[in-house]
Amino acid sequence: MDEERSPLRQLNEKPVCKEPAEKSALSRLPVPTVKRPLPGKEQSAGQSNLRQPANKRLLDQSDDKAPPNKRKMVSASVVGFKPRPPVMSQRPAVNPVHKTSAATVAGGPSRAAMKKPVAATLKPVAPSGGTTSRRPGWDLKGKMGDMQMKVSSYQEQVRNTKTQNRELKEEAERAQRELENLREEHSALLNKMSDMQSKVTSYQEQVQTISQENQGLRERGERAQRELEGLTLEHSALLNKMRAYEMENQELSSLKRTLEMDLSRERALSAQRLQEVRELTQSNAEQTDKLHQGEMERRALHNTLLELKGNIRVFCRVRPLLDGVQQQSSFEIQPQDKTIVLVKTEESHIGKEKELHKYPFKFDHVFPPQCSQQQVFSEISLLVQSALDGYNVCSFAYGQTGSGKTYTMEGPDVLAGEEMGMIPRAVQQIFQAACRLREQGWEYQFTASFLEIYNETIRDLLVSNKTPKKMDYEIKRASPTADIRVTNLKYIPVSSEEEVLGLIKLAKQNRSTARTQINDVSSRSHSVFQLRIEGKNSARDVSCNSILSLVDLAGSERVQKSQSTGDRLKEMKSINASLTNLGLVFSALASKDGFVPYRNSKLTYLLQDCLGGNSKTLMFVNISPEIESFNESLNSLRFASKVNECVIGTATANRK
Ligand code: ADP
Ligand code: MG
Repeated sequence: MDEERSPLRQLNEKPVCKEPAEKSALSRLPVPTVKRPLPGKEQSAGQSNLRQPANKRLLDQSDDKAPPNKRKMVSASVVGFKPRPPVMSQRPAVNPVHKTSAATVAGGPSRAAMKKPVAATLKPVAPSGGTTSRRPGWDLKGKMGDMQMKVSSYQEQVRNTKTQNRELKEEAERAQRELENLREEHSALLNKMSDMQSKVTSYQEQVQTISQENQGLRERGERAQRELEGLTLEHSALLNKMRAYEMENQELSSLKRTLEMDLSRERALSAQRLQEVRELTQSNAEQTDKLHQGEMERRALHNTLLELKGNIRVFCRVRPLLDGVQQQSSFEIQPQDKTIVLVKTEESHIGKEKELHKYPFKFDHVFPPQCSQQQVFSEISLLVQSALDGYNVCSFAYGQTGSGKTYTMEGPDVLAGEEMGMIPRAVQQIFQAACRLREQGWEYQFTASFLEIYNETIRDLLVSNKTPKKMDYEIKRASPTADIRVTNLKYIPVSSEEEVLGLIKLAKQNRSTARTQINDVSSRSHSVFQLRIEGKNSARDVSCNSILSLVDLAGSERVQKSQSTGDRLKEMKSINASLTNLGLVFSALASKDGFVPYRNSKLTYLLQDCLGGNSKTLMFVNISPEIESFNESLNSLRFASKVNECVIGTATANRK
């Protein structure tokens, strides 16, 4: 390239002044006349020289009317579209060069005018040629003159050619410089183009990014469109809902208005009711006061009633004949269930005549064999109520073995239903009454104990282990004002009927276990169930406490002394002693003796508080209906009637 450029540079060194140079060249040089005789040489030597002005002219012609800055842009765009080596790019301009040069020649002095000097210079030649044929051979002078003319013409021609050649060279140099400029322009344009290309690339990238973004946006748009559709649907659903709510709201508003009216009515009514409630509360308090007073009065009256009935009362109960035993009964019971008459036919003292002996006994009540447990209990329930009112209550079952003492006091083994005995029924009544009295402000606490006295020895029936330790049970009063208690004995706090029934079951089991181990001692021992009752009415600052004692005494049968030996005799003596002592205590109480032999037996000592003037006593005398039990029945009834004759002093409730 450098080699190629070097001549061009030489050309470019000449100051560029296209138009004037060309014009001067054209004006001074009759190009066509020179070109025509040497077309091949001129073409190779001054190819670019001739071409450049032609090109230039073309550019100039196209640029004539355009402003100078636009001229560059046009050439740049031409070069930019076809980047070729500068020589190659100029080749197609060869033909136009001829044309242009022709045109230029045409534009310049006319061909004829141009040819004239040549023709004029050649003219002397032509005559030589022509004259050769025309001059005679001998006209050497003429020929010489022709030749000289020819030579001078050729010399003139050479001079012209040289001048033309110099001018062409200068033209070529200018063209070369122009080319160099164009090349620079071209390379600048190339740079610009590459810039533009990189810009285009970056624009393309940008376009791509934008189109991607556009795609994303379109997708988002589609999504948004879909969401919008969904939201539109939702919106319309919500609108419907809102309309429904509005309707509901209207309904509710009207309902609210109605309710508000109702409410104001109710408020007025409520205020009225409140006033009424206040009045009622006041009257209720008055009523409660009255009720309490009534309750206290009832207790007093109840006590008076029992006092009138007697603080010691005796009931006689005859058990039915047991299954399979068919006998003539040994007794009669008079109407009104108050008197029992034992009847026995005995031989008269005088002879063979038989005498009918009748032994009448009057008691507070006589229960015939067909009487149910419930009927018996209804007669003692008043006493049980007294226990809650603060009176000590003691109930005994007296009679020979098998007369129905245990049946009466506890019932058969099943501690529920119709056959429940007095103990479970009393417990039931006490808990039910305590529950009712709670409404009046009474709170009760209960403690249960169950023991057995055999041969003047105490045994705790509430010990749950099967082989209980030998304990020392001592009857004691902890202080002069304290109630009598048994040391080491279990006093179990109870709060429900079921708990007490559980204890009675345990006691029954303990008694039956003892029966299998050491003969049947149950009939020869006294069993004592005690329920301590402590009641408190904090609001009224009243309290009361009492003991309900239910005693199943040992069999009262008397055994012939001659038949009794050893332990049996000891037992018999013990039982006799305690039962006799019980009678003596009653007698002493009735006769108001200063001394009451409580301490003579464990039983009376234990029940001391329940047998005094401060207690209510009930004795069941149980009778077996069989004829062979006649004597024992007679003895029992005699003992009971003695007790019945006792009038114990007026009882007072243990109240504080
Ligand atoms: P005790 O305790 O006086 O020795 P029991 O109470 O053991 O006598 O009674 C002896 C038997 O007579 C038992 O089988 C008992 O079920 C039955 N018996 C007692 N009294 C009645 C009665 N009122 N009705 C039905 N059976 C009774
Ligand atoms: Mg018994």
